[in-house]
Amino acid sequence: MKRVHKISLAVVTAGLLFFVMFCWMPSGVPVLAYHMVGAEEEELYSVSPAEFDRQLAYLKENGYTAVSLQEMFSGFAGTTVLPTKPVIITFDDGYRDNYLTALPILEKHGMKATVFVVAGQAGQGEYLSWDQVRALHKRGTEIGSHTMNHVALSEISPAEQLREAVESKEILERELGAPVVFLAYPYGKFTTETVAVLQAAGYHGACSGIPGLNAPDTSRYSLKRVNVPKPRLGLWEFKIRLLRAKIVFGFELLENRLR
Ligand SMILES: [Zn+2]
Repeated sequence: MKRVHKISLAVVTAGLLFFVMFCWMPSGVPVLAYHMVGAEEEELYSVSPAEFDRQLAYLKENGYTAVSLQEMFSGFAGTTVLPTKPVIITFDDGYRDNYLTALPILEKHGMKATVFVVAGQAGQGEYLSWDQVRALHKRGTEIGSHTMNHVALSEISPAEQLREAVESKEILERELGAPVVFLAYPYGKFTTETVAVLQAAGYHGACSGIPGLNAPDTSRYSLKRVNVPKPRLGLWEFKIRLLRAKIVFGFELLENRLR
């Protein structure tokens, strides 16, 4: 076969493969991972309010509906029906701006979020006060744990991991007067022992830093996320990050089917 024909065949095959992947693959749920929404120039993880507003408008225009982790799992279990294009908007660390700046923008777009609070840091410096955590919860925000002291769980003993998981859960539940059953791993770090620890502590799931999307067969304790730091390429960067997660997810599905 001539070289040019071989190349054409490869291009057509790759095109068909992508068409199949994107048209027939079951859709996954993106879980976006934010930290701050503010004007901090030097903070890598601070998205400006204008940029956050543009990103939410883009999601809305593209048919996405914000749901909580609880709602995603109920949908996966078939207890409730998920919207056609669900998205989960999460914030790590529990910064004050999640309440002061992000919440009004979310509400403007009819969206909601999940905030992972470091229980040992709440009420200090730039972090949410307990009154703000309660106000977020009252206005539809799902509250999760981001441990007691923001330590990498993979680097401490299982006994210490259990203390971080249990104490933060107890404090958050006491302050909220509601169950707290989800956690985000600080620095995205965890081990197989961590998963057993979280199960023993009564958590129903946890967010990692692994890129991709989530489906009913995704491990509940290593949910994939789409990292959203300060964008350097405006809305394009946001679109590229979403697309990259879809591609990672598509290849995973393909790999599983070929196994
Ligand atoms: Zn963190």
